[in-house]
Amino acid sequence: YGDANQKIDYVFKVVLIGDSAVGKSQILARFARNEFSLDSKATIGVEFQTRTLVIQHKSVKAQIWDTAGQERYRAVTSAYYRGALGAMLVYDITKRQTFDHIPRWLEELRSHADKNIVIILIGNKSDLEDQRAVPTEDAKEFAEKEGLFFLETSALESTNVESAFMTVLTEIFSIMN
Ligand code: GDP
Ligand code: MG
Repeated sequence: YGDANQKIDYVFKVVLIGDSAVGKSQILARFARNEFSLDSKATIGVEFQTRTLVIQHKSVKAQIWDTAGQERYRAVTSAYYRGALGAMLVYDITKRQTFDHIPRWLEELRSHADKNIVIILIGNKSDLEDQRAVPTEDAKEFAEKEGLFFLETSALESTNVESAFMTVLTEIFSIMN
């Protein structure tokens, strides 16, 4: 997890977007610090966290941006998207509305971000299977139609969080190489 004294070959900016309370900040905490909190406060101020990893013998610094409680439609500014090479579009599998808002987020992303941005759709809170409101198949179908990667994750149980980031980062890497 440490970045100290490391030669960096690439910096990849990746943005997290999606409705409030879907788990964006906890997904980031899990990836960047291997932490999770059940009572995470709403994020204040735009911020990012980094983690450096190795992809095909190159060191890649992932710079992951988290929204600052600006999840209302159109409140995320274009500065947030600027320079982003990847995006994680997150909904909560137990809240249908957060999935129904995904097309809006995608539209916003496509209007602000680079057209070659790598996008993964993420259905978070897969540990709450008994409260599931979004069938996996619905999301998979949507992702295929829109040309997005797709995974269900649990920041709580640490399921697929690493895979989700690695999917985006290795795809960005392969586009650049
Ligand atoms: P954000 O507004 O999208 O950044 O959402 P947060 O990361 O702040 O998470 C909102 C709430 O959902 C918090 O109470 C988290 O602890 C909880 N949460 C986040 N990820 C998960 C998960 O994978 N499973 C469960 N059960 N709860 C989660
Ligand atoms: Mg947050």
